Amino acid sequence: MSGGQPSAPLPPDEHSRLAALRRYDVLDSTPDRALDDLAHLASSICGTPIALVTLIDEDRQWLKANVGLAGTQQTPRHAAFCAHTILRPQEMMVVEDATRDRRFAENPSVTGEPNIRFYAGAPLLTPDGHALGALCVIDRTPRNLTDEQYEALGMLARQAQAQLELRRISRELWHQNELLNRELEDRRRRQIEHARLAAIIECSDDAILSMSPDGTVESWNPGAERIYGYTADQMVGRRIHDLVPPERRAELEMLLRTVANGEHVTNVETVRCRSDGTRFDAAVTASPITQDDETCAISWIVRDISTAKAAEREKTEALALQQVAIEELRRANEIKNGFVGVVGHEFRTPLTVIQGFSELLATEDFSRAEIREYASDIYDESSRLTRLITDMLDLDRMESGRMRLELSPLDLNELVAEVAARSMAAAPGHRLDIDLAADAALVSGDADRLRQVMTNLLSNAVKYSPGGGTVRIRSHREGGTVHLSVADEGLGIDAGALERIFDRYARAGTPRDRTISGTGLGLAISRQIVELHGGLLRAVSEPGEGSIFHLTLLAAQEP
Ligand code: ADP
Repeated sequence: MSGGQPSAPLPPDEHSRLAALRRYDVLDSTPDRALDDLAHLASSICGTPIALVTLIDEDRQWLKANVGLAGTQQTPRHAAFCAHTILRPQEMMVVEDATRDRRFAENPSVTGEPNIRFYAGAPLLTPDGHALGALCVIDRTPRNLTDEQYEALGMLARQAQAQLELRRISRELWHQNELLNRELEDRRRRQIEHARLAAIIECSDDAILSMSPDGTVESWNPGAERIYGYTADQMVGRRIHDLVPPERRAELEMLLRTVANGEHVTNVETVRCRSDGTRFDAAVTASPITQDDETCAISWIVRDISTAKAAEREKTEALALQQVAIEELRRANEIKNGFVGVVGHEFRTPLTVIQGFSELLATEDFSRAEIREYASDIYDESSRLTRLITDMLDLDRMESGRMRLELSPLDLNELVAEVAARSMAAAPGHRLDIDLAADAALVSGDADRLRQVMTNLLSNAVKYSPGGGTVRIRSHREGGTVHLSVADEGLGIDAGALERIFDRYARAGTPRDRTISGTGLGLAISRQIVELHGGLLRAVSEPGEGSIFHLTLLAAQEP
């Protein structure tokens, strides 16, 4: 406030008046032709050089229309005549000579430019009675207006307010239109999204359904028709339980409860039934559909994973087969290595002896006794070769199922005693301790083959106890079976080699084996023979503690 003149007090409705003014959104707007025209009309009707449409803002007077005050857009509120006009919204304010009015005599617009003397202002009234500003006419000399001019000023003020109303309404309409357009755009987008989802559901290979929390089907897509073989008409209203094998119902109840409680389940692998009763592997993914924090429905997606599962199973089976094949290959390789070893050693040694002696006989002169001795050596070595070849062929025949046994009732005790006497006679460093149960004597078997087994077990017992010791043979009967054991006090066998020693060409592989000659065929043949008899042959041993070979055969029926 300048010059000490009193500024206008604030009207009692100032707060809501300002809020109303904001709603018109007119402050600082571009010029309005209609309001400019009204100001011109007021100026010419009242014969004043100045006419204004003013709006009283919080601390300024803003001129919306302006005739005669070029260059002025706003003035401070405290210097504004119209700030007084709005104090009496229902009346026009008239100041005939501002220099004689206590309120305005010191006003800078009176003491200086534009030198206001005469002022008449009609308030601009909103429909709910707030005065936003005024339509005023101003002159630089004291004067008055005729009644008609005042009346016209009042009418023009109402026109100005009507223009402001129009502007407000059209802006509100524009705003509402914007909102409507946005709403429409949203709706359109939602519709597109809806159509897109519907198309996805329609074309999906998966069964997509919705159901109530208790499992009653509400919608059923073509994927579900294809997978389950039921149409939507057949399924809507029916409970999902009908599609679940009885042993999976508890699992279904648990899934329904989980989802009804607001949780999601993803890819739970299970089994479902088709309409023709066949079953298929399925993966279930389900989510709750909520309204006001309550699960009102469940979305349920079932994927038929039977093809993938079958492929997985095939793959596992193929892997297992591959594993078996690899194992067979490994064993075949081991056998081949054993075979190469046998050929390399067991064949070469006798052949070298035969070759050496025959060469000597062919090139040197020997006495008759020497010739007989060399010939006997050659015979022994070739017999060894023959045995080896016979063993290999026997084993091959047994393994390929071409070996036939000549079964007859025989006295095992007699057979064992005979073989033991023969074998032990050639082992002077060993003692034989034999104790056979009389009731364990009678078996049905192939005498030659069982002799072969006993010979092998006893020769091993002697061969693998290079330090001598006792070889014990025991037997007893247990129900329908006869048990016979051959124990020695020799080198024993590592736990890791215990099963392997029954394989073809397999030797326990310890360094000591290399000093003891062998082919690794004896036990393989023995086990084959025993198994062809329906019996068992196994070994129990501790390295350094000796070995026991247990032979079990079926007892012959008592006559
Ligand atoms: P070979 O004695 O000709 O090597 P076998 O098939 O009769 O072949 O025996 C296989 C392997 O089992 C032998 O190389 C040996 O390592 C082991 N073995 C067999 N019998 C005994 C035994 N009584 N004590 C220790 N090791 C044995």
